[in-house]
Amino acid sequence: MDLSPPATTAEAPRFRNLLRASTQAHLASLPAAVALALATCERSVAEVELRDFETPVVQAGIQAIRDLAGQIAAGVLSEANRAEEVAESRRFREGFLLPTDNPPELAARGQALMDRLEGSSPSQLKTKVVVLDGPSLMAFVRGGENLYLGQDVLDLPEEETAAILAHERAHLLERHPTLASICTEVGLALATQAAGSPPLAAAIKKLGALATASLQREQEFQADALGAEMLERAGYPRSAMTRVLTRLQGDRAETSRPTDDHPTLSRRLEALSSSTRADKG
Ligand SMILES: [Zn+2]
Repeated sequence: MDLSPPATTAEAPRFRNLLRASTQAHLASLPAAVALALATCERSVAEVELRDFETPVVQAGIQAIRDLAGQIAAGVLSEANRAEEVAESRRFREGFLLPTDNPPELAARGQALMDRLEGSSPSQLKTKVVVLDGPSLMAFVRGGENLYLGQDVLDLPEEETAAILAHERAHLLERHPTLASICTEVGLALATQAAGSPPLAAAIKKLGALATASLQREQEFQADALGAEMLERAGYPRSAMTRVLTRLQGDRAETSRPTDDHPTLSRRLEALSSSTRADKG
């Protein structure tokens, strides 16, 4: 899901700046870990230049950035907190919505489904559904509270629409977009530290992007599994998640590249079926 979130000029620099400043402050308190990550990245410069991303040294560089992001994540999430995410969400919505978006009847239908999911899996977070004008199967989240849907999502069988909503709500609950941004910011901060060596700085930027993509692929598995649990609690069959993923894939060929931010359909279906088996003990 998150099918092609649109490019937008309605940037939210306030939240990004907060995230960047917090990331930099936390990194500054871990000089030894930063030096180790830089040294690990340095070993992979030649292979990154050759775009040879599957080699052990490149994978070690990607992992070093992810480890560093993991070490500071809790601290940064408490500063760039949920309230800030929600405020960012509202600023984005104001800049993004057109008068023709959110037709009342469709918006009410989407929100009613979301309310049903939230009723059976309560949390502090209230997700606002925004229905975009025009036909599409797009679904993505921005900031802390908004889930944007193309109108075609509401024409799917109800349980499949609910599956998309549950998957996207899981991204919001787990703060996935912000965690991915922290990983990106770690890469950028390391690249800045390596500015004296342009080839190293360029390699680190690439490694940072690959690290973020690898984190995002894991987040998709988590959102599928959590979303399937939410569906079940709301009285829908968890198989609706499998069905809607298969529907969205359509007859497009499966491809898998290190830069992809989504795993392949077969890997997602496999992960869902093993999480079902794990649930059943
Ligand atoms: Zn997703």
